[in-house]
Amino acid sequence: MPDLSVFCASYAEARGRFVDAARAHGARVFEYRDPRQKGPDGEPLCLDVAVAGPESAERVLVVGSGTHGIEGFSGSAAQTAWLRSGGAQRLPKKTAMVLFHAHNPWGFAHKARGTEENVDLNRNFLDHTRPYPQNPGYAEVHPIVTPAAWDDATQAEVFRRLDALRERIGEKAFSTAFNGGQYSDADGIYFGGQREQWANYAFREAVVKHVAHAKHAAIVDLHTGIGPWMEHIYLCFHPEGSAARKRARDWWGERAVNLAGVTHKALADYQGVLIDAFAATLPKAEVTCVVVEFGTLPRKEIQRANMAGRWLRYHGARNPALARKVHADFCEAFYPSDPAWRAAVLEQSAEIFERGVKGIGG
Ligand SMILES: [Zn+2]
Repeated sequence: MPDLSVFCASYAEARGRFVDAARAHGARVFEYRDPRQKGPDGEPLCLDVAVAGPESAERVLVVGSGTHGIEGFSGSAAQTAWLRSGGAQRLPKKTAMVLFHAHNPWGFAHKARGTEENVDLNRNFLDHTRPYPQNPGYAEVHPIVTPAAWDDATQAEVFRRLDALRERIGEKAFSTAFNGGQYSDADGIYFGGQREQWANYAFREAVVKHVAHAKHAAIVDLHTGIGPWMEHIYLCFHPEGSAARKRARDWWGERAVNLAGVTHKALADYQGVLIDAFAATLPKAEVTCVVVEFGTLPRKEIQRANMAGRWLRYHGARNPALARKVHADFCEAFYPSDPAWRAAVLEQSAEIFERGVKGIGG
């Protein structure tokens, strides 16, 4: 069994272990601190960046965690374990590993998926001066997924109505309506925001500072939720036939591009995702992007958890006893406590990191 002490109980603890591991194992640490707010225990909220290898390396692999707040516990564990294992000492020449810890520190610290404004950071990276993409299907989803109660009977009714909607409009349209992202209802699910989040600025600033010099840049954005229990899946949005897609396949294998193991029946058309912003911020580099998801619960339970997260934010305070139970289930959905699951994350992430390093290192 690997050392599971990298799986922490709080954001502050995870941050501390990450920074300590970076300093102890030859990486330099940079901090992007949210100037406006602190965490629930008064702790600072930061995007921390650890740079292993030459700061001016022409080949830079970024591994990021915590785009969806609470999902960052597992990504953080993978990052800290890589540092502790001496990953920085195994880098090829002219290659740097740049670890982004906590893309959305507010969500990480509050054990929520969204930002302080209920924004899904992974739908927020678009041009906010232009009209937002329309998601007309969401108009039918919103009244179903925003009940004021969250008892068993309410949940059953929510799923009955969602099933009826899916039946009527089909899997793909349903998926886009449900989780493609929406910019119309600030108290809804998968809300992309109506302005840039601080975390959006911080991410792009850090990419410019630590990656813009690179000729070859890649990012692995670590998530949890989609995929089979104790396995991981890749999402790659580079177009069919592109050189970037070919690189992803060469580095991580066929599964990096063929959606093997994805538990969504149809993938939504996503808007404003973080890895697209990574590519857009690096116009001069050859860029390769993938999302990795460590699978947790079946799709329906992840949908339930997402809606529960929204209920907690807007209605939880009125029913603290239920909120505690709902939040415990929510945490299990995105950050399972099972040691076997956590060990699997470490084993699989070590391989993903090493293949990425080897791939970009040429
Ligand atoms: Zn996620």
